[in-house]
Amino acid sequence: MSRSKLRIIGAISLLVVAGLYLTQATLAVSVPSTSLKTHPASSDGRDGWFKTIPKITLESDDATAVTYYSWDTPDPKQIYKYAIKAPQGKHTLYYYSGTGAGADESIKQKVFKVDSWRPSFIIKAPKHRKHVRGPLRIKVRAYDPDVSAQSSGLSELRLYMGSRLLAKKKASVYTFKVRTRYIKPGKRRFRVLVKDKAGNKRGRSRHYFIDNKKPVIKTVAVEPSVPSVRSRATVFFKLADRVSRRIFATVQIRKIDGTLVSRSKRRRRMGKKLVFQSMKMPEQEGAYIYRIIARDYAGNRQVKTAKFKVENPWNLNNVKNHLFEISKVIGVRDEGTAAEHRTADYIEGKLRAFGYGTERQAFRLSNGRLSYNVIARKTGTDPGRQFVIGAHYDSQPPSPGANDNGTGSSLLLELARTMKGKKIRPTLIFVWFGAEERIGGVRGNEHFGSRHFVSLMGPSERASTIGMISVDMVGVGHFFHVRSTQRGPMTLVNDILNFAGQNGHAVSYRRDYGASDHLDFELAGIPSAWLEWRVDNLFHTPADNYERIQWDAVDITGRFLSNYLLNRFGG
Ligand SMILES: [Zn+2]
Repeated sequence: MSRSKLRIIGAISLLVVAGLYLTQATLAVSVPSTSLKTHPASSDGRDGWFKTIPKITLESDDATAVTYYSWDTPDPKQIYKYAIKAPQGKHTLYYYSGTGAGADESIKQKVFKVDSWRPSFIIKAPKHRKHVRGPLRIKVRAYDPDVSAQSSGLSELRLYMGSRLLAKKKASVYTFKVRTRYIKPGKRRFRVLVKDKAGNKRGRSRHYFIDNKKPVIKTVAVEPSVPSVRSRATVFFKLADRVSRRIFATVQIRKIDGTLVSRSKRRRRMGKKLVFQSMKMPEQEGAYIYRIIARDYAGNRQVKTAKFKVENPWNLNNVKNHLFEISKVIGVRDEGTAAEHRTADYIEGKLRAFGYGTERQAFRLSNGRLSYNVIARKTGTDPGRQFVIGAHYDSQPPSPGANDNGTGSSLLLELARTMKGKKIRPTLIFVWFGAEERIGGVRGNEHFGSRHFVSLMGPSERASTIGMISVDMVGVGHFFHVRSTQRGPMTLVNDILNFAGQNGHAVSYRRDYGASDHLDFELAGIPSAWLEWRVDNLFHTPADNYERIQWDAVDITGRFLSNYLLNRFGG
């Protein structure tokens, strides 16, 4: 038998004894009274809610009475022994004391509202340490455990920046919208606080970087300042941002009209320092824009653009490379032989690499062999007029023909390359003549290429050809001459001499008796000129080799011719 049962029996026997006594004595019936105390003494939350689970003590004024209690049903049967803990939620405690002698206290009741649980919440966005521009939207979703039965329910959401209350809202799901325009840029602490009706609260902080300022792009420069076509140039710039320590930047090269030419491959993450991006330069010379687009972590974007020029400069090294190939690798280029044809192939290959379409004119020599003129055409802005610039590429055996005329044909390749992207009014026709040299020492048995070229020109083409320049032997000697036979118009010769005089070039006139490819053009009535350096005593000999070329002479000729064409026909 348990102790409690023993006690009940004990209590009942006591009541029986008391009852016997009472029936014999005059009646003085006393009903016990139970007092209820809680700890804490009263609700410590709002609206009657306990945030601390209260300890309930029931005490009867009759020491003989037994105190009973129950939760939520008005039928107290449980005997009170020790302090009771109120359960979570809203519950009613029923209680009374009785002595078992028929004098029971009537049932009392008290409602307890207990919510000791803190509400919880999540900040759905933005993430901690996020960089923010524009309005900051803090999405909060809060919940109080089991609102229906056991909890007081959510009361409000609050948002603080530092210690300043920014907003409060009675809702469980809410997006705070903070206008950041007037917040000083930088790292700011935001705190979300959620309260339930009992007054339980929970808070959480997030740091956000407020940044409404565009990054700054400074010190923009291109190195070299005027880059060459197809080269690489470096765009230098300095980035700064008040908040972000790292900024993304992209560099673009665009045409003046905005067409994209190239862009840096990856967006690079760069610090607050001088940064650079190597960029491939366009194929064509002209004016371009480079555009730097910087973006900070918050998404603020800054764009800086600047104009720059891309040039296609004359480069003597290219001429040297061509001449090495023509006079040393190929060597003697007797007309109509495989060596001459190989030279034509080399020239054609280079022209295609420069972006030219090429054409060949085939013609038969007096010895029955086949030779070719190689032609590249640069269409002018005024295609009704044309200007021919030619150089023969064959050599007189046994000479490797470095000066005669590896120099002219190599120079002409570099001239064609540099003219490719330029705006020129007349159409430029570059011709590499085959078979200029005399065959069998017979006078007139020569100039096969240029003769063939002129023979194919009809009257209207001759009329529209405003000039012809032959570049032949420009790498040996001390005197730079412009020459003609005076059998055709002298207008081009005079114009070249004028240009040379005005620009301080030492070019002098020397009459010629038909020793280069200009002759047939002159005879066709086309203003023609031959550019030549004199005197070369070793031409047509094996000693006319690559090693003895005076590169200054070649360089002066190339630059002079280029300047002359641009000055007279450019734009
Ligand atoms: Zn020659």
